[in-house]
Order: sequence, then C-alpha cells, then structure tokens
Amino acid sequence: AKSAGRNNVQFFTASMNQAAKDRHELEGGLHLALEREELELHYQPQVDGLGRVIGAEALLRWQSPDHGLVSPPSFIPLAEETGLILPIGSWVLATACAQLKAWSGDARLCSLQLAVNVSPREFRQSDFAEQVRRIIESSGANPARLKLELTESLVLDNVEDTILKMQTIKKLGIAFSLDDFGTGYSSLSYLTRLPLDQLKIDRSFVLKLPDNVSDGIVTQTIITMAAGLGLNAIAEGVETEVQREFLERHGCHAYQGYLFSRPLPLEEFEGFVFAH
Ligand code: C2E
Ligand code: CA
Ligand code: CA
Ligand code: CA
Repeated sequence: AKSAGRNNVQFFTASMNQAAKDRHELEGGLHLALEREELELHYQPQVDGLGRVIGAEALLRWQSPDHGLVSPPSFIPLAEETGLILPIGSWVLATACAQLKAWSGDARLCSLQLAVNVSPREFRQSDFAEQVRRIIESSGANPARLKLELTESLVLDNVEDTILKMQTIKKLGIAFSLDDFGTGYSSLSYLTRLPLDQLKIDRSFVLKLPDNVSDGIVTQTIITMAAGLGLNAIAEGVETEVQREFLERHGCHAYQGYLFSRPLPLEEFEGFVFAH
C-alpha cells in the first residue's frame, strides 16, 4: 500500500507538471496569437419573435497552429490572469466596430446590433471609457449599433465606479446588456441604478424549460422584472422549439441559441442574415 501511495504521489506530481507545462505553452502561444492573426470573431444570430435576425453576439475564436481550435473557456481565464485580455479585448472591440462600419453600407446588415463581451479586467481599466470612445471614433461605426455585455459579478465588484463608467459610455450612444443574468447571488437593489438596456437570461434557466417548474418561475420573473424596469429581455442557449414557445408565451421576444444557429464565421453569418 505504501509503494502504491508513493506511485500515486509521483503520478500526481507528473500530471501537475504536465498541467503547468500545458498552461505555459498555451500562454506562450496566446502571446503570439494576436500578431500572428490567429484570432477571429464568430457571430451568433439573435432573432426576434418572427425569426428575423436583429443582431449578433461576437464570440472569440482562437485558431492555434499548435493547439487547434481553442475555445474561449480554455483561454479567456488565462488571458484574464496574465493581462493578455487587455490587447485581446481591444482587438475584439476594434474588429467588431470595423465590422459594423462595413455593414453600414448594406440595407439589411446596417440594422443589426452587435454585442461584444467585456471582461472584468478590461472594464476595470481607469481609461476604459476613453478607449471605447477612441475605437468608435477611429472605426467610424455607429455607436447605436454596438452593445457591450457585462456580467453581474463585474458590475457588482464596485457598483459606484461601474455606474459612472457605464454612464460615460452610454453618452456615446452605446447600449449595455447584463449577461448571464440570474446566476449572481446579489440583492437586486442595484439593478435600477445601472444604466442598462437589456437583461440576458442565462442558459442555465432556459435549459430545463418548460418542465422544470422553478426554472420556469425564475425565467418568468426575470422577464416581468425586465419589462417593469423598461429593459428588454433576451434568452440565451435556446435549443428547442418548446423552450422558445415558453419564452414567447411569457413575454420574451428575443432569442439566441442553437435552435436558430451556432456562432458562425463572418461570411456564413451574412448568408444567414440574407436568408432570414
Ligand atoms: P457567453 O458570453 O455566455 O457566450 C455564450 C456561449 O454559449 C458561447 O460559448 C456560445 O457559443 C454558447 N452557446 C450559444 N448558444 C448555445 C446553445 O444553444 N447551447 C449551448 N450549449 N451553448 C450555446 P463560447 O463561444 O464558447 O464562449 C464562452 C464564453 O467565453 C462566453 O460566454 C464569454 O464569457 C467568453 N467570451 C467569448 N468571446 C469573448 C470575447 O470576445 N471577450 C471576452 N471577454 N469573453 C468572451
Ligand atoms: Ca455574452
Ligand atoms: Ca451569456
Ligand atoms: Ca451563460
């Protein structure tokens, strides 16, 4: 038993070393990803009650020559930790704004609103609002077509600072959505103080609709609350027609999820818009 224990320790140490090595390699690759132009944005359609595309969420993809297609959950936390999320976040915003500018010349694409995820570390920069202003200005994009997605934990981290910064950015004409709504643990009192436009109902509530009674109640409550506060509501992770139907019946008329489309590369996304 003793030697087996020692073997386990050795195995554990070896796998720890491997994990540290993997992480180190991934970090090195991520450093070069920007200059090597390995990052791209995919676009997931957001649709209204009639199935028309009203916008998209921009989702980051890393096509690494060494690691293949790396999904955001396996590199965004690392980017956040190392600070690489700052240049990556600027790139995401600049790329999204350049895309909005390119779409502005098309009768159909010009009406889309593009949602961009903002990480806590990006938002916490003292000059974040100024950076957004500069990117909007130099891209020539219409700020009314841009929406920033913030998470509940981000906004609660320092509510006073968050409110001031959001107000500055809102004055530019940019909208805000509160992402993954309902997954935080806070009191709701701050909600009325944030200059929000939209609540995004988290996928975890949508997942078990309509059978799970408590998730149904939470979902209905979020929709009612959004309406009461003059905010629009969108549901993420909509995968089935019965989920969509439940949401629609309870007053939610904007959806995003695999029922409509996965996140798509630019040209496929544009094709999807023209077909719907
Ligand atoms: P999120 O903001 O909650 O984005 C939604 C995630 O759910 C995306 O995963 C999307 O592909 C996935 N999804 C959409 N519809 C469905 C569905 O019907 N079913 C299921 N099972 N999943 C669905 P993705 O692209 O892997 O992104 C994961 C997370 O990474 C995002 O979660 C967001 O927090 C972060 N992320 C992605 N792009 C960026 C970015 O440009 N900047 C920052 N800071 N974070 C990003
Ligand atoms: Ca999001
Ligand atoms: Ca989300
Ligand atoms: Ca979510």
